[in-house]
Amino acid sequence: MNGLFTTLSKSQLSSDLPPANCEVRFIADSMLGTLARKLRILGLDTEYYPDAGIGEIMYRCRAESRILLTKNRKLADTSHISAWLVRGDGYWEEFLSITGLLPKSGAGYSLFSRCSVCNGCLTDVSGGSVKEKVPPHVLRTRSRIMKCSGCARVYWKGTHWNRMNREAARMIERLVK
Ligand SMILES: [Zn+2]
Repeated sequence: MNGLFTTLSKSQLSSDLPPANCEVRFIADSMLGTLARKLRILGLDTEYYPDAGIGEIMYRCRAESRILLTKNRKLADTSHISAWLVRGDGYWEEFLSITGLLPKSGAGYSLFSRCSVCNGCLTDVSGGSVKEKVPPHVLRTRSRIMKCSGCARVYWKGTHWNRMNREAARMIERLVK
């Protein structure tokens, strides 16, 4: 561990926190693609560059004030960047090993504010502006449709959304208990 907790003091882990994605930003290493997607569902700014070299990852950590989430012990111990050693197998165990980094109040999260695929920000759009990407029955029945500013994927409440919502609830339940 290094100077990480200078930016995550106890007093900051309160219900008065602005959205978590304003407070803490991550880069996940190439082993942690699934964990990165799950953190994005919570609204946490989590970049993932599976093909980037160590030098580029470290540069981005410093330039963008991000914490590196890594399974590489040597990298986690480096003093040049803020980094955290992720433990466990599978995303749930990995998630449990980083809960100390995350807000302890549900108010600290902005669910569905980020694209789980690319980390872009989601914004509400009118159905008419994305009608070529959305089935007609969705346009008729869904009141809320969102679009990613990065990859232009379109999201709406449905089976996939509900599954993500259950995953988000499971993670937050673990964080706030
Ligand atoms: Zn996207």
